[in-house]
Amino acid sequence: MSTMRNDGHDETVVCFDCGSSDVAKALQQQTFQYGNGESAVNLTAEMPVYTCKTCGYQFAGPEADDARHEAVCRYLGVLTPAEISAVRESTGLSRIQFAECTGVGIASLKRWETGILIQNAANDQLIYLMTFPDNIIRLKRRDHFALLDLSDLSSGSEIASRHVHSNHFRGKCIQPDSLQLRRAQRFVL
Ligand SMILES: [Zn+2]
Repeated sequence: MSTMRNDGHDETVVCFDCGSSDVAKALQQQTFQYGNGESAVNLTAEMPVYTCKTCGYQFAGPEADDARHEAVCRYLGVLTPAEISAVRESTGLSRIQFAECTGVGIASLKRWETGILIQNAANDQLIYLMTFPDNIIRLKRRDHFALLDLSDLSSGSEIASRHVHSNHFRGKCIQPDSLQLRRAQRFVL
């Protein structure tokens, strides 16, 4: 028997006890604890449970971690890994392009999409905003303006060339001159 992981990889499930591949899958509601001490809560997730038809051994499937992770995301009120992937795919951007556009780290984005880490509230809000195509356009336009603003500064040739070579300059702090301040005052979100 086989199951499709969300990365599209076809994986055969075999019994942990006897190695038989003759196993039946069923979904079961399972409760697990999330958090420690006073903040601990019991969450419920629909877990895939496999029963070996050869020896009767029961074990959790490879999707159990995903199901638990999703239940935690729902409890925290943040996007699940599948939802993050869906938001990014709806933008038509690759992971690298999405990371460049939003300023999030490519490694972090990959961890959020694969359920290794849960994004913090601020990043969750940012990804949610990417659901709206006009926000992608705003960010691209902002990147374009940043490039123009820096490359026509007569005293900033070094800064401008650094910006052309690195798309991550925007995050660094620079002292705005009067021209930039005038532009900033005209800029309307
Ligand atoms: Zn077995």
